[in-house]
Amino acid sequence: GNFVIAIDGFSSCGKSTVAKALAKQLNFVFVDSGAMYRAVTLYFQRHQISLTDDAAIAQAIQDIHIDLVPQADKIQVLLNGEDISDAIRTMEVSEYVSEVSAIKAVRKAMVKQQQALGAKRNIVMDGRDIGTTVFPHADLKIFMTASPQVRAERRFAELTAKGEQLTMEEVKDNLAHRDHIDSTREESPLRQAEDAIVLDNSELNQEEQLAFVVDLVKS
Ligand code: C5P
Repeated sequence: GNFVIAIDGFSSCGKSTVAKALAKQLNFVFVDSGAMYRAVTLYFQRHQISLTDDAAIAQAIQDIHIDLVPQADKIQVLLNGEDISDAIRTMEVSEYVSEVSAIKAVRKAMVKQQQALGAKRNIVMDGRDIGTTVFPHADLKIFMTASPQVRAERRFAELTAKGEQLTMEEVKDNLAHRDHIDSTREESPLRQAEDAIVLDNSELNQEEQLAFVVDLVKS
């Protein structure tokens, strides 16, 4: 059978960095489920889909086609064939993505695609509800945490390196905002699965984090 590794946690805990490195090490497919919700959000913003217009949302879900194309050091995200890898990483998308992700119809569609991606392959998938909802029977579940200060500093460094003009305060507010919505929404809220192993990476570098998870896979 195939082996599924689920990595969940709050925003900016470094989930995708660990997931990517782990997938590379094990020669597994890496799936960034957050990128899928970000792609839907970008589509909603571009097409001005109202979050209360159920018919428009249902139509949008039909019209959205997302592809994740593995590349040397990242995965390319395609929205209806267009490369939106960079467009989904802006603060504009980050500020709205949790609202869009809380919509039941959106989650239903994304979860279905994510389950299909992991049905026959060995994968590492990171997100918020992977170990609880998408793959409740995952072979290994990791729940990542890091101190709020460390998380905000990392995200701030990432965004400013890309040339975004913003303050540390804005980054902190965005993380708190998303964490709040993600953990209080009705549909598959962010939770630590009972059988998840906690990885607090506040004090660990990337090699140490990778070693920790590789050890878990081996044991
Ligand atoms: O992982 P990332 O921070 O890019 O995810 C962006 C947003 O997508 C999260 O804040 C959350 O609102 C949503 N998300 C989700 N379920 C997932 C992955 C992401 O609701 N499995």
